[in-house]
Amino acid sequence: MNIHEYQAKELFEKFGVATPKGKVASTAAEAGAAARELGGEGLVVKAQIHAGGRGKGTFKNGFKGGVHVINTAAEAEDIAGKMLGQTLVTHQTGPDGKLVSKVLVAKSVDIAKEYYFAILLDRANSRHSIIASTEGGVNIEEVAEKTPEKIIKEGIHPTLGLQAYQCRKVAAALGLRGALMNQAVKLFTALYNLFIKVDCSMVEVNPLAITTDNQLVALDAKFNFDDNALYRQKDVVAMRDKTEEDPREVAASEYNLNYIGLDGNIACLVNGAGLAMATMDIIKFSGGDPANFLDVGGGASKEQVTAAFKIILGDPNVKGILVNIFGGIMDCNIIATGIIAAAQETSLSIPLVVRLEGNNVVAGKKTLADSGLAITSADDLADAAKKIVAAVAAA
Ligand code: ADP
Ligand code: MG
Repeated sequence: MNIHEYQAKELFEKFGVATPKGKVASTAAEAGAAARELGGEGLVVKAQIHAGGRGKGTFKNGFKGGVHVINTAAEAEDIAGKMLGQTLVTHQTGPDGKLVSKVLVAKSVDIAKEYYFAILLDRANSRHSIIASTEGGVNIEEVAEKTPEKIIKEGIHPTLGLQAYQCRKVAAALGLRGALMNQAVKLFTALYNLFIKVDCSMVEVNPLAITTDNQLVALDAKFNFDDNALYRQKDVVAMRDKTEEDPREVAASEYNLNYIGLDGNIACLVNGAGLAMATMDIIKFSGGDPANFLDVGGGASKEQVTAAFKIILGDPNVKGILVNIFGGIMDCNIIATGIIAAAQETSLSIPLVVRLEGNNVVAGKKTLADSGLAITSADDLADAAKKIVAAVAAA
């Protein structure tokens, strides 16, 4: 799960991470009022979308830049009016861009230098780690690739937590001295406490900036949360903005389905992520194009299969469905009954190929055959892929 920058900054304020004061607005008039409340000068207006690269982005109406420094409340109102209700395209949104329905009006600062600072779960050393760089404000992936020596990494002990000496070490590596080092220790520690308390999997501050009057402040914020911990983070869940997410993925998550929409026309419904990947591969190998990744998990109940069918059929590109289920713990006959019920409930009218394998498979196949529905049974994965690709080509 992700949140907006303005929400991230509310968390920064709560946990004592230094950041310029700001207010969120949904209309141009609100942006003007927010600007007046913040002093009416020396401000920025920032489009709020779940993607970075806003500064260098372009709106579909031609307006350039999702981050604007402004100097009067009237200007704030004008700029907000140009952003709100418009679609912003950045290198992270893809060509479709993202609709801006909120802007953040915040105090602007005079930047002396921009740094990159993040805390994330580093799977390579199985620890939360600090990633920092003097090359801030830019694409960090590019820095890591071209000048890996400019990336500072510091692993954090899982039970001891982030130690003051580690903050000083990172600050020194960034070239921060004296008062700035003290500010860095305070900011890094506050950010780490926040990271742990709200179960983040990543907090990225790009840029972390030094101002011309020697203050260290977080100017941007990107958060990822550990989805498995959301049950104990009610305040975080309340910040979820479903309009930023693919509606099919939102529907899928309500039924514990892992769904990712793709561009092809053959939908797949599979139990297990590995099997789902293999199924997508073999569809490609057989000359087809998968319309989605969909893992119904180990259970594959009737309710889940029906919900999955509905989500799949909501995609107008889908011209055929391949069900590939391995009944390890599940009984194939129960799965077959679920598939039939789902096909009936959704009045399925496109080709459906089902490959069942495992526990009680003979009974399962018989149930499918006896259903009277136009369901094609397949014997193995290659056979299933060939059959669905051929059926879609013929349709
Ligand atoms: P994005 O990463 O989506 O482009 P940022 O929040 O990083 O958005 O903003 C882009 C750039 O705008 C920053 O690198 C910084 O130079 C500038 N900027 C952002 N916030 C402020 C601010 N409060 N004061 C001054 N400059 C800012
Ligand atoms: Mg940024």
